[in-house]
Amino acid sequence: MNLAYLLERVARRDPLRPAIFSGPHCVATYGQWAARSAAWAGWFQSQGFAPGDRVALFMRNHPRYLEVMFGAWWAGLVVVPINAKLHIKEMQWIVDNAQACWAFVTSDVVPDLSVLSGVQGLKGVTDVEQAPPWGDSSDLNSSAPALPISPRQADDTAWLFYTSGTTGRPKGVMITHRNLRTMGMGYFNDVDAMDAHDAIAYAAPMSHGAGVYAIAHLMAGASHVVPLSGGFDAAELFALGQQMGPLSLFAAPTIVKRLVDHAEAAQVSPTQCAASFKTIVYGGAPMYAADIQRALRLMGPRFVQIFGQGESPMVGTALSRAHLQDTAHPRYAERLASVGFAQTSVRIRVADAQGLDLPTGEVGEVLIQGDSVMTGYWRNPEATAAALRGGWLWTGDMGTLDADGLLTLKDRSKDMIISGGSNIYPREVEEVLLQAPGVAEVAVVGAPDAEWGEVVVAFCVPQPGQTLRVDLLDAYCLEHIARFKRPKRYEVVDTLPKNNYGKVLKTELRKLV
Ligand code: AMP
Repeated sequence: MNLAYLLERVARRDPLRPAIFSGPHCVATYGQWAARSAAWAGWFQSQGFAPGDRVALFMRNHPRYLEVMFGAWWAGLVVVPINAKLHIKEMQWIVDNAQACWAFVTSDVVPDLSVLSGVQGLKGVTDVEQAPPWGDSSDLNSSAPALPISPRQADDTAWLFYTSGTTGRPKGVMITHRNLRTMGMGYFNDVDAMDAHDAIAYAAPMSHGAGVYAIAHLMAGASHVVPLSGGFDAAELFALGQQMGPLSLFAAPTIVKRLVDHAEAAQVSPTQCAASFKTIVYGGAPMYAADIQRALRLMGPRFVQIFGQGESPMVGTALSRAHLQDTAHPRYAERLASVGFAQTSVRIRVADAQGLDLPTGEVGEVLIQGDSVMTGYWRNPEATAAALRGGWLWTGDMGTLDADGLLTLKDRSKDMIISGGSNIYPREVEEVLLQAPGVAEVAVVGAPDAEWGEVVVAFCVPQPGQTLRVDLLDAYCLEHIARFKRPKRYEVVDTLPKNNYGKVLKTELRKLV
């Protein structure tokens, strides 16, 4: 079933309900959103686009993102979201690989539309900030849209998402209408209860997890708030929430940290935080125990963790608000360091290389099965066969399951360090070093070593105004972890290399060592 029916459903029921906001200003009711998406769909049809054709979205977070995305679905097309921070060459590569026939951009991301003229197969580009080609959007009222929604099967692709590609070329993940519907419905059960009074703020790129969360909020008939900055600005978000009522958002741990830094610097109390934020969902990269404890202390119980990947968007495990609040639980520390329990719509296993279940507590690859899992990689049967085996998605993440079903991630299989025959999971060392005085950020990688095979190298970023002494860092590790896990080298650096989603690029660090 086409995801566009979700929009039509709410628009019929509540056409006058405010839906899309630019900062605090409502720019579309649900009726107007549906009418504009239907108008886009009519225009796609008039251009000869057929169901299954791809259109690329290469724009900063913008209210029109939602109108165009649902317009494409309304016409049965496939949306190719592209991170606005990518280089134009990377964007061209994706458009070419996806064989997209049209691109939607904002002028800040693509100031000169002619740079896209050379991309094969691309028939045209639209700057969404110009008047739409089908006429003035203010002409459209909330009356029922005329163009019928193009029927789609549940397994038809809706969202062709390119992996962030921390190694090699990105792969196009084929996410279907069923996958996204499953994700949306799961939000209510595994992440947060919500209704039409809720509001989501798009503080992270809409080309990623934040954008697909639009579906859950649409299901609830909630408000969709695109900050005027087009992204993350801590002060703006605090103020927006104060003005509009508590916002929910999804953010990577680095962004959550910046929000918490702001709460601390501006001396915003947890009670005041409650006025600005309802729920902050974090995931996409490790959240260290020390960081989430600080976040809870300074901002109150408004956090939920999720673990997923582009191949099963936002759906894997969740560590609920209740779990994060249950400080009296005998295994609270383990829970904090984990990614939580399987979400309702999936099964999770930890398996050896043959796919056999490993005993409780043993490290193996994390496998996911369920209706959120992709159908495969676009035009890449080899990669699909490697990732989808025996009815399971092989995530490439290493982890352990305990008797309760709690999943703790170790690291990506390729990030594991083998030193003197022992496996060392960088995250464990990172968790310890983050507690050492004066340390703001850490990333641990393996460096080739003639004697040990690999040795542990720690890159440490000092907190502002602090200097880090290697002997003290080393003494701290000696006190807190096994000797063999302790870094043989420490590099004090100003910043860590990160990709456009804020994930530390360990590949870059490995090159340095
Ligand atoms: P992406 O496909 O870009 O969403 O990246 C997915 C990867 O991010 C996963 O395979 C994990 O390695 C990592 N990841 C996602 N969520 C979490 C989490 N809650 N904690 C640690 N790592 C995570």
